Amino acid sequence: MAMVNSVSIIGCGISGIFAALELKKHGVRNIQLFDKSRGVGGRLATRRSNEGKFDHGIQCIELDGLLNLPEIKDLINNNILIETQKTGLFVGYEGMTSVAKFLTKDLNVSKEFKLTSIDNSEGSMFLNFENGQRITTNSVILSSPINQSIEIITKSNVNINPAKFTEIKRLEYFPAIIIMVESENAINLDNEFIQNSSSGTFTTITDNFKKRISKKENFYTLICSENFSAKNFEKEYQDINSSLKKELDTIFGNKYKILSNHKWRYSTPKNFYPNDDSINIGENVFLGMCGDIFTNGRFDGAIKSGISIASKFLENEI
Ligand SMILES: Cc1cc2nc3c(=O)[nH]c(=O)nc-3n(C[C@H](O)[C@H](O)[C@H](O)COP(=O)(O)OP(=O)(O)OC[C@H]3O[C@@H](n4cnc5c(N)ncnc54)[C@H](O)[C@@H]3O)c2cc1C
Repeated sequence: MAMVNSVSIIGCGISGIFAALELKKHGVRNIQLFDKSRGVGGRLATRRSNEGKFDHGIQCIELDGLLNLPEIKDLINNNILIETQKTGLFVGYEGMTSVAKFLTKDLNVSKEFKLTSIDNSEGSMFLNFENGQRITTNSVILSSPINQSIEIITKSNVNINPAKFTEIKRLEYFPAIIIMVESENAINLDNEFIQNSSSGTFTTITDNFKKRISKKENFYTLICSENFSAKNFEKEYQDINSSLKKELDTIFGNKYKILSNHKWRYSTPKNFYPNDDSINIGENVFLGMCGDIFTNGRFDGAIKSGISIASKFLENEI
């Protein structure tokens, strides 16, 4: 007989990973992570292109308050996370994806498993995936961005707390459009490898070579502003890039190539869940939810949220 998952975690971003690690540490067995993508990490995302590399999701990590976590110490001791010139600010040495890869090396992960619905009708809980798989589980943790989790719950047959569901339905994310550029020349940035701006079309420009993740020089990631991204999100990359031409020409002095683009429909939270670092929304089953929207919209907050939902599960089990 197939083994039943005790906990199925949907989403293999940093919050789902920490939920899994925390549960495992406390002796929970048969934990399985599922992600719709071909890789792990979610918004910890690195892309290779033309022999160089780009981080096209999270750019850098603040670890205040997390430096004593054994998993973080492990990442630092193994040079997966390296400190920049600014104390307390870290980057992934081989790119951000390597952080997720390192943390999941002893976890059970199924990739290209997109959860579409949960079915609790026949006395057991079943997870229905887009690839046709149906998996039995005792409990579920949704670590997908909240709008994706809401979409799953809406299509599911599972008892949830209606008041809690109403609370989370008002949560939203900003979209973000990312431009990845190879330039002929280096450009000057305000800081070691990154420049932030609160006005203009690009909120962040990062030099992936100076950040030490790209072996090839002059590989830049540009994050478009919330405004620009929202306005242009549904457009084709070709149209988006041509509307940015003038500004890119000014920044890179005409000598550059756009190597690729990325769109994040759920990039950083527009508003936050104010009441707790995670929630269990299930009525007679454990249906937990975690992710960066429950804390501060960042890496460190996503970790706290993952640990928080694991604690709720463990309390529930007693
Ligand atoms: C462009 C950008 C720049 C950023 N810069 C910074 C920064 O400099 N510093 C910082 O601290 N934070 C930054 N962030 C935010 C940071 O990346 C996030 O806070 C953090 O990575 C969120 O982790 P998470 O686990 O909550 O969600 P995610 O990383 O989004 O993980 C959720 C996972 O769920 C999966 N999933 C979704 N739906 C399904 C489904 N139906 N079935 C299966 N799997 C599913 C997704 O594929 C994904 O892997 C940035 C984000 C972006 C996009």
